[in-house]
Amino acid sequence: MSAVLRATGIWKAFGEREVLRGVDVELAAHEVVALIGASGSGKSTLLRCLNLLEPIDDGQIFLGDEDISDPRVNANRIRARLGAVFQSYNLFPHLSVLDNVTLATRVVHRTGKRQAEERALALLERVGLADKARDHPDRLSGGQQQRAAIVRAIATDPEVLLLDEITSALDPELVGEVLELVRQLAAEGTTILMATHEMAFARDVAHRVVFLDAGTIVEEGPPADVFRAPREARTRAFLSRFT
Ligand code: ADP
Ligand code: MG
Repeated sequence: MSAVLRATGIWKAFGEREVLRGVDVELAAHEVVALIGASGSGKSTLLRCLNLLEPIDDGQIFLGDEDISDPRVNANRIRARLGAVFQSYNLFPHLSVLDNVTLATRVVHRTGKRQAEERALALLERVGLADKARDHPDRLSGGQQQRAAIVRAIATDPEVLLLDEITSALDPELVGEVLELVRQLAAEGTTILMATHEMAFARDVAHRVVFLDAGTIVEEGPPADVFRAPREARTRAFLSRFT
């Protein structure tokens, strides 16, 4: 089983504060991994390091066979191969939804405008947002914005989709439509690493759960094992807050 994305021995500090302390994580093709852990445990930092938005202090990150932690790599080229969606502020407010979705394809893959728009419209249609294509993001609900952000992230056909608590800024009634889209992408075989507090969703959709605590992976395994019978006291303590 060859990894699509593999990080080994990742260390990251902000000043004196060590946020990631030797994290190893890998994703096989079509695997869906849920990254869980308390606020401040380092989930976002790990995703940002994987996406080359933060330089790492030590360790290596491979995307396929390529060492993307090599400082000489072109981070923009790599980021097009790693679709990312964050908690909020994913879309450029001054661009239409359609332009948001086509921007990366046009810049990175040098796809022509017509072709990029056709594909973007097909994707927006699929998620029920075709009629919002010409609108600016502020005309969309939070749930629609996050779905559009997911469309933007997958428009470049990334090898991995990194999702960082993409529903935690949403009103509760809008969470379902966003999770449903992630569920569909997972079912289609998209390789996904998602930081989430949606434990029921993680249990349903993830193939593997990784529990991060104070910058180290304390426990990982199939959701049925980690949620039902966590081995580590720290995992039990964390999960007890959700029941
Ligand atoms: P999580 O996503 O699990 O809540 P984060 O990765 O956001 O955790 O944060 C982990 C720790 O790193 C926190 O203590 C946070 O304050 C700190 N941190 C994150 N980003 C920065 C930054 N840019 N500068 C300084 N400290 C940061
Ligand atoms: Mg976070």
